[in-house]
Amino acid sequence: MGNKLIDLKDAGFAIYDQLKIADLFAYEKFSDYAKDTVDMAIDTAEKLAVSEYYPINETGDKTGVAFDNGKVTVPAAFHAAYKKFCEGGWTAPAEDFDLGGQQMPAMLNYLTQMLFFAANQSLMVYTCLTHSAGKVIEIFGTEEQKAKYLGPVWEGVWGGCMDLTEPEAGSDVGAIRTKATPNEDGTYKIKGNKIFISQGDSDLTENIVHILLARVEGDPEGTKGLSCFIVPKIRVNDDGSLGADNDVVCTGIEHKMGMKGSATASLAYGDNDNCIGELIGGRCKGIVTMFNMMNEQRIVVGMEGISMGSSAYLHALDFARERKQGVAFGQKTGPQVPIIEHPDVRRNLLFMKSYTEGIRALLLYAAKCLDLKELVSDEAERQKYSDLVEILTPICKAGGSERGFDVCTAAIQIFGGYGYCQEYYVEQLARDCKITSIYEGTNGIQANDLLGRKIVMRDATAFKALIDEMRAVIRAAEAIPELSAYAADMEIYVNKFVETSDLLRARLKENAFLAYSFATPYLNIAIDLATAWMLLSQSVTASEKLKADAETDADFLNSKINTAKFFIGAILPQVTGRLDAIVKNDAAFLQMEDRYFID
Ligand SMILES: Cc1cc2nc3c(=O)[nH]c(=O)nc-3n(C[C@H](O)[C@H](O)[C@H](O)COP(=O)(O)OP(=O)(O)OC[C@H]3O[C@@H](n4cnc5c(N)ncnc54)[C@H](O)[C@@H]3O)c2cc1C
Repeated sequence: MGNKLIDLKDAGFAIYDQLKIADLFAYEKFSDYAKDTVDMAIDTAEKLAVSEYYPINETGDKTGVAFDNGKVTVPAAFHAAYKKFCEGGWTAPAEDFDLGGQQMPAMLNYLTQMLFFAANQSLMVYTCLTHSAGKVIEIFGTEEQKAKYLGPVWEGVWGGCMDLTEPEAGSDVGAIRTKATPNEDGTYKIKGNKIFISQGDSDLTENIVHILLARVEGDPEGTKGLSCFIVPKIRVNDDGSLGADNDVVCTGIEHKMGMKGSATASLAYGDNDNCIGELIGGRCKGIVTMFNMMNEQRIVVGMEGISMGSSAYLHALDFARERKQGVAFGQKTGPQVPIIEHPDVRRNLLFMKSYTEGIRALLLYAAKCLDLKELVSDEAERQKYSDLVEILTPICKAGGSERGFDVCTAAIQIFGGYGYCQEYYVEQLARDCKITSIYEGTNGIQANDLLGRKIVMRDATAFKALIDEMRAVIRAAEAIPELSAYAADMEIYVNKFVETSDLLRARLKENAFLAYSFATPYLNIAIDLATAWMLLSQSVTASEKLKADAETDADFLNSKINTAKFFIGAILPQVTGRLDAIVKNDAAFLQMEDRYFID
């Protein structure tokens, strides 16, 4: 077996054969890329992930982050790996060449990031947030702001973070209370408190650039009155040197279930009336500024989840091949056999393999749409890719995080009692993975987004674009004798999904409260259909390759076909119950008074 992070043979099949990354090389922006440069980037990322990130993940979990005398100290081992990451140019690989980036296609950028997330989620959070902060400055900053902050942020010499959450403002961002008061020189005095800020403070970098949401006094309530500010931990002089402390104080760090190497800080701004922020993106435009990259960020969080799931699967597969228990199936006596030979263990491994490979392909497909929506010249095509990104975002975020966690817990099950013990890595993966269903908009919020906004938007055009893509794969599969029965099954589920979505759209107008009670089951149906769609698409590609050459990679290609068949035949039918429940629309939910929850 190769690395125990991402099966690169499978991921390579996804980007080259199924999703045809080479299509992108035809555009001027990516004309420097070809298969050998892509291979080289993946290879370099794999080496860094395997040799620097992965070995210190467990150390980071055991050491954790320390908070002493107001100072935050990350696990010592993180410093050298972070430096190598920055030196390797991994802080901004997708940025344009003239900004110091490598102008990578999103699909390649995502695949390399998957390796890093699978290897060490805690350490990746620092670089990821730095990238987000840099991106906000790159898109919305003035020339002065870019000149002042962007260089050190893209180099990773300064860290970055995104400061939204407050005790009373989590999912409800509009409830933010942090205040900004204009100064005469055009800057703002910031006063308030934030919680749960990843990399809100750390000793990994010499400065931290906070991108913060606050409300200028007198501006409207809710999200429409919020503005975005650059608030450095240490002020930056006009010549780029560091100046005085900016009255941003870390008041504590969280002691979390997982991601223990990542500093999650509580922050106080302006306790001494001396915290200065610079407006970025325009007054009352904070939500647009902060959420400009929301789709991308949410897809990245889905990627975090499924990457940890991927590593859990590969560890479990290794274990299942080595661990011997019980005699061969159907025998009363005989030597003990590896547990992979027992039907239930084998089913569990296939469950893990199919979700890991299907959702990974979905995320890489979404990455291709992200690039194409900027690159294609035809307006209708551009809109199609933009619609696909919109509707796929909650499915990718929740699919990667939810199923990634399911795969991690399935891995614990395969390890048996050992899986529950700390010496075995999979329990850390499950703990680390759980956060992905919570941050960047909880999965409950993703479900509301899919039902209330995405399947309705633009007269359901985004929804139709997704269904058209699914049907195109069904058409291709039904023409292949070996896959035609599975294509027919898939078509039945897709049709039922379309009918149920029409019903829900109507019910949103009739009884929205009841309709929203089905938001999460509905999202789960969409996740499973999207997974099946990707696996079916991969099986079509594998069949075509086998038809052209029956020898090369036959085992791998047959495994792709078989994985799709297993998923569509044995897992996808589970959506029927969820679909039936939505159609039934039972009203007991409405009769459940608050007081009924209490004895
Ligand atoms: C480790 C960690 C790192 C984080 N990093 C950052 C960061 O870098 N920057 C930052 O700003 N924040 C960060 N957060 C905060 C994170 O984004 C919030 O925890 C998350 O948005 C949820 O907010 P909350 O915890 O207040 O939960 P609540 O908003 O109180 O939600 C509680 C529950 O109610 C549900 N709920 C709430 N409102 C609705 C609704 N309208 N409809 C349906 N269900 C609803 C939620 O789905 C959830 O299940 C981090 C949190 C953690 C734990």
